[in-house]
Amino acid sequence: MIINESIQTDILIVGGGIAGLMAAYSISSDKNLEIMLLSDGSGASPFVHGFSLPVHSSDSVECFMEDTLKSGQWKNDEKLVALLCKESLLALDLFEKLGITFDKKENGEYTLLRPLGASVPRIVSAGNHTGAVLMRKLRDELIRRGNTKMCGWMRALRLKTDSEGIRGALVYDTRKKQYSSIEAKAVILATGGFCGIYPFSTNSSDIGGDGISMGWYAGASVKDMEFIQFEPCVAVHPTAVKGKGMVTTMFYENAVLRGNDGKRFMLEHSSAGEQVDKDILALQIYQEIQKGNQSPHGGVWFDATDVGFERLKEIYPAYLKRYEDCGMDLSKEPIEVAPAPHTSLGGIEIKPDCSTRVPGLFACGEVTGGIHGANRIGGNAGLETIVFGRIAGEAVQRYLSEKGRKEPLSLKNWEDWANSLTKTSNLSTLDINQNDLMLMRQKMEQQLSENLSVIRNERGMQHAVQVLGDMHQVLENTPLGDDTELAYQMLRLLNDLTAAKLLAKSALARTKTVGCHIRADSKENDE
Ligand SMILES: Cc1cc2nc3c(=O)[nH]c(=O)nc-3n(C[C@H](O)[C@H](O)[C@H](O)COP(=O)(O)OP(=O)(O)OC[C@H]3O[C@@H](n4cnc5c(N)ncnc54)[C@H](O)[C@@H]3O)c2cc1C
Repeated sequence: MIINESIQTDILIVGGGIAGLMAAYSISSDKNLEIMLLSDGSGASPFVHGFSLPVHSSDSVECFMEDTLKSGQWKNDEKLVALLCKESLLALDLFEKLGITFDKKENGEYTLLRPLGASVPRIVSAGNHTGAVLMRKLRDELIRRGNTKMCGWMRALRLKTDSEGIRGALVYDTRKKQYSSIEAKAVILATGGFCGIYPFSTNSSDIGGDGISMGWYAGASVKDMEFIQFEPCVAVHPTAVKGKGMVTTMFYENAVLRGNDGKRFMLEHSSAGEQVDKDILALQIYQEIQKGNQSPHGGVWFDATDVGFERLKEIYPAYLKRYEDCGMDLSKEPIEVAPAPHTSLGGIEIKPDCSTRVPGLFACGEVTGGIHGANRIGGNAGLETIVFGRIAGEAVQRYLSEKGRKEPLSLKNWEDWANSLTKTSNLSTLDINQNDLMLMRQKMEQQLSENLSVIRNERGMQHAVQVLGDMHQVLENTPLGDDTELAYQMLRLLNDLTAAKLLAKSALARTKTVGCHIRADSKENDE
């Protein structure tokens, strides 16, 4: 592999969603620090409709914590939950400082939506695209401050460490189609979740297994990888909206689900109907489809007609418009939805200050695991990016107060290291071309959708571990070669396979159904 350029900075942030931007915002107040922020798209953050904040008159930090732990089936890291909930209200100061005003009623109270799993309405928003509004303001502020270089076309592939900890990253410039090394005193991983490794998900194409894999190969630990939250209601038709989630807060506004026979099947499972946690909703929809009571395009019917046009227009105009653009009227006709992977609740294990087991490596946002436990309440992931992005930024500032820049390594040193990333044993090697990589990716996707979907069983997961492990081994033992683009595709697939393999192994190890990890062959004990 040829590395064309060597770059030095103080802090490298990988990921330009809210978590990465918040970390940069927090660090950039120190004008003496140079930050590089890499991304390859905007991730999930622009789609955040709203954030959890305990501002309802019947809500409190304690109630918020209790809901979060209960929904996570007490598999959450309690210290992280305490931070999420206690520091949540600081977000109000942030929004005020950035000039973002949340929607309010005429009497001055916040317009709050109630997410599934919350005891009270808790989601604040600024229109239907609150995440995008926040990102724009954060980017503007970073440009104004001037010490963050934002590169929206660079994909990090591996982290380099030395005996003292993190050293930097191998990065691919998707515009110039060439590699660079970036040396930094600290790295923050903010690469988002990894549901994009599934063939059909709500995630954008820049979301994959790179973050998990980079952390893993650098020596960080991962946790809760089996907890993949399926968004219960994702459009399966028409093509223009396929993969887009329908907001489940509508179930508190008279929206209901129906099988193809027109019956509200959720009432057969719970008197609360559709107003249950997302994991239960996803499971029941999945089973209804498996039973054969499915709509023409393989989903169930999401019927928002009783929400009424006026209310839809007032609270959910973006959803009305989305279907209007397809020639459909959400207030008059039901739409077809099915569950799809949405957020990964597991990921890199962090301490309360977002540090990892690797000195100088920090992580925040959806790439981390532990905050949501076995199931996540809507609105909590968005809040997590704000709270923990800031915490990561502050922790890095403290960490750097004792660190000087090191003499940069030569390009030859980086190239030798990069060439040793694969071909780690003496096993026979294969020549791999683009077509082989495409077939391997399809095989990975097939294992994920067949054996690591809403309902799992031991036999299927054992098969997935075997198939994913075999492919992983093949790639790990194939030299990267001189074809720049092919090597890039190989490393990306290897990273995605690493995340898939860790997910499959974790899922197999957890023998009992808990939260969104549902086993058809659940055992009594999951110790
Ligand atoms: C459609 C949708 C709607 C959602 N709605 C809500 C909601 O209303 N409320 C809520 O609380 N949560 C919601 N969520 C979840 C929430 O959006 C995410 O958990 C959160 O935004 C993750 O933020 P993040 O900054 O950690 O990662 P992301 O916003 O996903 O950003 C990840 C960034 O990392 C970059 N990246 C990834 N890999 C690399 C690499 N190798 N090199 C360089 N850059 C890389 C990506 O390009 C991107 O810039 C939603 C999720 C989706 C998919």
